[in-house]
Amino acid sequence: MPDHGRIFIALAGNPNSGKTTLFNQLTGANQHVGNFPGVTVEKKEADIRGGGEYLPRREAGRITIVDLPGIYSLSPYTQEEIVARDFIIREKPDAIVNIVDVMNIERGLYLSLQLMQLDTPMVIALNMMDELRENHGSVDIKLLSERVGVPVVPISASRKEGVGELLETAIHVAYGDRRPLIQDFCTGAVHRAIHAVAHLIEDHARRIGITPRFAATKVIENDPPLLDALGLTEHERHTIEEAASYMQDEAGTDRKSAIADMRYEFIGNAVGAAVEKPHTTLHQDRSARIDSLLTSKYFGIPIFACVMALIFWLTFGVIGAALSDVLGLFFEVTGAAVAGALAEGGVNPVIQSFVGDAVFAGVGSVISFIPMIIVMFFFMSILEDSGYMARVAFIMDKALRKLGLSGRSIIPMILGFGCSVPAIMSVRTLSSERDRKITIMLTPFMSCTAKLPIYGAFAAAFFGHSAGLVVLSLYALGIAVAICAGVVLNKLVYRGKPVPFIMELPTYRFPNIKSVGILLWHRTKDFLQRAFTVIFVATVVIWFLQTFDGRLNVAADQAGSMLAMIGGLAAPVFAPLGFGTWIFATAIIAGFIAKETVVSCLAVLTGAASVISLEAALPGLLTPLQAYSFLVFCLLYTPCVAAVSVVGKEMHSSLASVSMVVRQALVAWACAFIVYRVGLLIIGG
Ligand code: GDP
Ligand code: MG
Repeated sequence: MPDHGRIFIALAGNPNSGKTTLFNQLTGANQHVGNFPGVTVEKKEADIRGGGEYLPRREAGRITIVDLPGIYSLSPYTQEEIVARDFIIREKPDAIVNIVDVMNIERGLYLSLQLMQLDTPMVIALNMMDELRENHGSVDIKLLSERVGVPVVPISASRKEGVGELLETAIHVAYGDRRPLIQDFCTGAVHRAIHAVAHLIEDHARRIGITPRFAATKVIENDPPLLDALGLTEHERHTIEEAASYMQDEAGTDRKSAIADMRYEFIGNAVGAAVEKPHTTLHQDRSARIDSLLTSKYFGIPIFACVMALIFWLTFGVIGAALSDVLGLFFEVTGAAVAGALAEGGVNPVIQSFVGDAVFAGVGSVISFIPMIIVMFFFMSILEDSGYMARVAFIMDKALRKLGLSGRSIIPMILGFGCSVPAIMSVRTLSSERDRKITIMLTPFMSCTAKLPIYGAFAAAFFGHSAGLVVLSLYALGIAVAICAGVVLNKLVYRGKPVPFIMELPTYRFPNIKSVGILLWHRTKDFLQRAFTVIFVATVVIWFLQTFDGRLNVAADQAGSMLAMIGGLAAPVFAPLGFGTWIFATAIIAGFIAKETVVSCLAVLTGAASVISLEAALPGLLTPLQAYSFLVFCLLYTPCVAAVSVVGKEMHSSLASVSMVVRQALVAWACAFIVYRVGLLIIGG
């Protein structure tokens, strides 16, 4: 019973059933919605907006709702399932809103049956009703709700239909403490086994706060963590084993399937009676036809490559590049105006240089790439929201499995195109330690957003019309190196079998403008935040080191600065790769802090006033081949400080992060060396 009039609601359901969409509707939060299983890893909590559409203002803050990760069952096989299950059992929410995608109703109810056994007040939100309607299906809500013994409310989360009624019902069941009416859907042998075991372990189950029936079902399914938690005696364990094997013999299947079959039989009856399904929906029909092409054995990967080539061409060659130039021009003009004003006012030349070189040229050159990043993420989020990225994961899954890698690893790797930090954190969702370790090591090879300014500047300076292809080749190289590294790790270090993973393909959807907008806004905000904190500080340090000499006097020329000394020491290391001057060595060192710093550092060191003059200056310093070798090095070398530290945390070892720093630097050096030397042979330099 809710105390103090506050209500705590848990939102549970299958991946991709619309939990986050509903959560955002109710709370006004802006969580990432993706048409992609596995996006919400940790639970997110917020109050329902008071004074909004669903609650009067005076009720504000009274109802808290938690968005749990998507799960298919309450078995403890993945991190998501453990998070969701522990939450419901330990925190005892006043009500569960169980969201079920009506287009995949059987699979959704499979989870509902398990949630019902937890004996918590519950309501089923039947989501995506708009899709069902469009495809001429229908549900007898009253009958369905009688059959399953839990109130059912039809909704469409994305169209805000039925959400108010759902909330009312949830409040109602929470206050009335209306628990599910049916908890027993088994017959025959399974029924007898569950009953017997439930009696046997009743005290133990009550002691840890779960219902005997839930405990009995899970124990018969075989659930080691729960068995331990129950603290059973040897004798009790033995009796359970006997009951289970007796049931297996009688039912003629293994214990897990016996229970699963019962659940599906119950669900089949309920759905058969209450749901009028569309035969094959227009949607599914179209999806299936598109999929036969997009996920085909021969065309899948080439089509993906073409799609990416198009995106890179638009981003780096056309729209993004043009917009970035406009912003670059803006910084150049305002920078010149400010410099003029400072000079006229007779301000100290060191301050003049600080404002002009560090702030306008350095940080400004990074910020100029914001339009490019927005354009790129606009396309990427459309790919994700439409459901195409899930297909990419599907094709890669098949390919990776042949190499002994888990297909599940593909999701962190795709997230790695954004930023390695959340990508590495999402590795927690993998179920085996081996798969987790391998995936953590592969993810940083994926080309992250922070490298876009580097690509943008170099592509414009050296590669003109083929900019898109050059960037595509870098992304492809990152993937290829990751796969090679995976194969090596699999053969030499972490031998074993990947855990099987069933990748499910969501139906194609028209991307939702709002969720694309939210994603873009977050990326832009993150990027600006970094520009004005980490990148700004790093650029100021670079500026300081190049302006002063060892005795803190203003250096007569750059060559006498502290930075030239440091960079000069590192430069010979890069000579075999074609860019062995102190300027590039320094930029690479600065890039450890954040990859964008490579660009701001180059702008400071070449004395450029903006990206535009940086792009004009670069061809005087490198040949296109040397520039490409530099890009390859930047793609692959040690990830930034933030990523390195998160690797240490997730692997629970600082040795792991140190060895990653060294390993990736070596891989980058070797790859850039090969690219440069082979390139020289080809062009005969
Ligand atoms: P979660 O994984 O359960 O958190 O699901 P999300 O909230 O991320 O939603 C998954 C996908 O379903 C997204 O593409 C949403 O835009 C879409 N979606 C959510 N609710 C509805 C709905 O009521 N109707 C339709 N047609 N699509 C929806
Ligand atoms: Mg979600």
